[in-house]
Amino acid sequence: MADASGVDLHRPAESRRFAVTAGATFLPARGFVAGVTVLVENGVIIEVRNRPVPPAEAIVHVERRDATLLPGLIDSHVHLSFSGGSRVIEDVTEASDVTLGLVALQHAQIALASGATTLADCGARCEVVLQVRDAVASGRVAGPRILASGAPITTTAGHCSWLGGCADSIDDVIREARRQVGAGADFLKVMLTGGNLTPGSNPGMLQYPADVLFALANEARRLGRPLVVHAHSEEAVAIAGRAGATIVAHGTCASSEGIGLSPTTVEALLAGGTVIDPTITVGMPGIRDHAQVMHDRARIRKEMLPVFTALARQGVPLLAGTDAGVTNVPHGSTARAVLALEREVGLQREEAIFSATAAPARVFGLEHRTGAIVPGLAADLLLVEGDLRTDATAILRPAQVWSQGVPIAASAWRREAEVV
Ligand SMILES: [Zn+2]
Repeated sequence: MADASGVDLHRPAESRRFAVTAGATFLPARGFVAGVTVLVENGVIIEVRNRPVPPAEAIVHVERRDATLLPGLIDSHVHLSFSGGSRVIEDVTEASDVTLGLVALQHAQIALASGATTLADCGARCEVVLQVRDAVASGRVAGPRILASGAPITTTAGHCSWLGGCADSIDDVIREARRQVGAGADFLKVMLTGGNLTPGSNPGMLQYPADVLFALANEARRLGRPLVVHAHSEEAVAIAGRAGATIVAHGTCASSEGIGLSPTTVEALLAGGTVIDPTITVGMPGIRDHAQVMHDRARIRKEMLPVFTALARQGVPLLAGTDAGVTNVPHGSTARAVLALEREVGLQREEAIFSATAAPARVFGLEHRTGAIVPGLAADLLLVEGDLRTDATAILRPAQVWSQGVPIAASAWRREAEVV
């Protein structure tokens, strides 16, 4: 039975059969299509058809002509165990594993209610989020699909070394990558430059020489795991492209001349098949305001936007990751990232939605499971209030979310996403 929030934790997804008809539905290669009905059975999309559901079929039919149906969003960069407050390091390091796990689960549920049905956790203390992922996947607790990287691989005393993934030499990083994959990591994350969150760390400088990253990228390929490279300097972004890394996170492209983009960096990214996740919600005004850090990040963000526009125009795909959990970025911000990629970077609306659905599904190897409204894929669906064809902000108004066919009321767990 469903509780008051509409979350039904007790009825197995296998027993569900329902249909959804929205005013417009976002389909691959076609964009927004009117009058389409999506049929779901056993948590899987079984049919996408142009005709209505005949009364004889007698299944639950959600009919919302005033709403738009999308694939559930995929956030390619979150930190589920991070608080989003002004003391992230203390919040993480002072908590027990159990507390961190519960915090991570709560954040995952907040993100799910906002429309993100898949989350890629890009760094947590040791194996805490791997265990949350497994608890959700086993059905013991309700939540979105989680991919997890374990602790980011970083240098001794380097960026996010307080999470535990320290490795310095080529041998060290290969050993740490193997250890993490052995522990169940879905992908690997490495801090190629310093970062803003860690005192004493320098975002503008490499933490590793290029040959260490090349060795790690080769090992990630051998292990069959995507590699996410945290990089703020343009030098680091280019090295990640030359290494054939899967994703560059942040991609600030800072150098001694300021923030900008050279043709050789674009060539390296295109040659490596590397995509950029600009974590566009970091420093975004109006989400939260811890004033002491907000000012600098907002300024840097403004300088970064033309770089991302140029990257997209030259064919480097962008992802709508959020970095949710770092200071000022609340969990449940994925739809804001989609809107920012359209309004501030200049992507077409369809491209911006793609950056949070089919594009990350492909990058993380999930394209046969989720990321599009196609028969055979999981019924990860997001119904938003209003007509997204004419109103870009409709994506910020979730009406109903389905996670592998299980309905999640959009009003459930939303507390954090509403904090401004
Ligand atoms: Zn991050």
